Amino acid sequence: MRTGLIYDPAYLNHNTGGHPENGDRVAYIYSILKKAGMLEKIIAIKPRLASLDEIELVHIPEYIARLRDYSNRGGGSYGPDNIVSRGTFNTALLAAGGTLAAVDAVLERKVEGSYALVRPPGHHARPGEAMGFCFFNNVAICARYAAKKYGLSRILVVDWDEHHGNGTEEIFYNDNSVLYFSVHRDGNYPGTGQIDQAGKGAGAGFNINVPLPRRCSDDDYEYVFRQILQPVAHAYKPELVLVSAGMDTHAKDPIGQMNIFGPGYSRLAAVVLEIAGRCCGGATVFVLEGGYNLQALAEGVMAVINTMVKWDFKEAHTLEEDLMVKTAVKSAVSNVRRYQERYWPELI
Ligand SMILES: [Zn+2]
Repeated sequence: MRTGLIYDPAYLNHNTGGHPENGDRVAYIYSILKKAGMLEKIIAIKPRLASLDEIELVHIPEYIARLRDYSNRGGGSYGPDNIVSRGTFNTALLAAGGTLAAVDAVLERKVEGSYALVRPPGHHARPGEAMGFCFFNNVAICARYAAKKYGLSRILVVDWDEHHGNGTEEIFYNDNSVLYFSVHRDGNYPGTGQIDQAGKGAGAGFNINVPLPRRCSDDDYEYVFRQILQPVAHAYKPELVLVSAGMDTHAKDPIGQMNIFGPGYSRLAAVVLEIAGRCCGGATVFVLEGGYNLQALAEGVMAVINTMVKWDFKEAHTLEEDLMVKTAVKSAVSNVRRYQERYWPELI
């Protein structure tokens, strides 16, 4: 597929010092993509600053103003997990705006898919609160923007970061125009993401949480995607797929406790691209979230971009019976299916 890549050295201007979420992450990933000759295979897309109106699609004005003032004054600690520097506010606008540029390129068919190599990450950010290294919820802003600008009414968000995207869930909890699917480690930060949190009102059935035990492998994750995500997504027929593509599920991650290796991300990306290929001409935007080991980040992002570049919409999957799946994962999957089948008869 024609693949866009969003990156800018200005993503380093959110200066967090020795914090795990620091500028070395994206700089290193980009240097490895360059070294591997990937930049010749992708179409570079320039990010832009999101406007305040665009940020307000998700966040409350008082919070935006508070963050801007704190950043302008030089920053410091911001809540228990976040650090703000003088460059933070604009970098956060550029992360959201980079994701918007990625979605424009896809929906205007300049590319079929794009990868937004941006920071700070977004999926923990709530409408009025920064959390878990996140300030603005890039993916949520992007979904609201795509719905407004392009009139979309079915957007799928796939979140494979090791942590539950509590911000994204909260923002779309009553909303059926966004189907949020999260696979995360059970009991992990921020403590949300239970199976019975399935959406409310019009949003009932449009929030799917899959909490998993620790040390899940490539096969375990692929099984979850094939058993739950794929049948539901085929029925939902998204017009756009957004992916919160955190890399803290990598076996080498110092914060995460999962066991995915580089090629595992190709397999997850392949399931996502199969859905997008079948439902919306491939329209997919992958967005970086967590991931704190440089080598693991580079391997994961490289695997995803490679899969995108080579994607011909016909890629064969591993046979499901060949997957080696932990008993605990099979039982987690059957619990989710049993809970969600009231909304999705495909899961019965
Ligand atoms: Zn994470």
